Amino acid sequence: MAGTGRNLDLAAGIAAGDRRALARGITLVESGRADHRTEALALLEALKAAGQPAAGREALRIGLSGTPGVGKSTFIESFGLMLVAQGMRVAVLAVDPSSARSGGSILGDKTRMERLSREPRAFIRPSPSQAQLGGVARRTREAVALCEAAGFDVVLIETVGVGQSETVVSELCDIFVLLLAPAGGDELQGVKRGIMEMADLILVNKADGALKPAAMRTMADYAGALGLLRRRAQDPAGYPCAMSVSAETGDGLASAWEKMQALVAWRREGGHWQGRRAGQAQHWFEEEVRQGLLAVLAHEPARGQLARFGDAVAQGLMTPEVAAARMLDTLG
Ligand code: GDP
Repeated sequence: MAGTGRNLDLAAGIAAGDRRALARGITLVESGRADHRTEALALLEALKAAGQPAAGREALRIGLSGTPGVGKSTFIESFGLMLVAQGMRVAVLAVDPSSARSGGSILGDKTRMERLSREPRAFIRPSPSQAQLGGVARRTREAVALCEAAGFDVVLIETVGVGQSETVVSELCDIFVLLLAPAGGDELQGVKRGIMEMADLILVNKADGALKPAAMRTMADYAGALGLLRRRAQDPAGYPCAMSVSAETGDGLASAWEKMQALVAWRREGGHWQGRRAGQAQHWFEEEVRQGLLAVLAHEPARGQLARFGDAVAQGLMTPEVAAARMLDTLG
């Protein structure tokens, strides 16, 4: 395969935990060029063949969602620094559907997480600026795999809460954390039920200073709402749960981490962790096939089959169903 030697070097660099190699690897998997795609697949295969990471040593993938301003970057910085101080290696990635619209990125242009980014045990990757959420997420999944191969203990996957992106991130992570700001009671409506159902932990941020009473109220409201949800098979008693934290003062972060670890330990013991990862792998396989077929269709105008069958349908020579079936046959 073309570029295999170079990929082996890159794979070795990533497996050795070299952050520059990791950054180059992620750039490769994010590239839209066909030749880069071939290299990216070879790289992923090489890392897989190297057998990393060993079972039980996988990174913990934490999805983190919240609307702009709730304090995601402040939280990631404080939380990330706490984990780094405990000797862990922490990677931060982003899935950002809005970057396509703004042309910017949630992690890219702001000088965020400055202290965390200076830590040798941390790796922060700006979000890719590709057009389509599905595409971004597929490549983010590969970026997660590279971080895992590079030996990171925790991979934080950040997304702005816009509904669809949570669904995608929940297919990428082991546990899903929803960050909220203190609010009046009626704002409970603002969080869609589906997102609540996805969350393992709801953290009400900014529980400090004058905002603390409101944060505690909001936390109690969500704790009540979570109690009304049907218990999921993949949860021990008491989960999903709501807690209050302050990303600014660091209050509650250690407890939140304990809650996450307890949940992970329970899921590992019960096989839910492995089951979830297996289900996700299957999901992404099917998504790759779907996207691959769409790509074939996108090239179809050059082959002219779509236009030819379309004309036949328009002229009443074929029914739409038969024409579609014949058309799909030509793709095989
Ligand atoms: P993001 O858009 O979700 O990444 O939010 P940021 O981390 O940029 O934070 C938005 C604003 O909220 C900033 O002005 C932060 O200083 C502030 N903020 C974040 N976390 C806290 C917190 O725990 N307490 C308080 N009082 N303010 C916070």
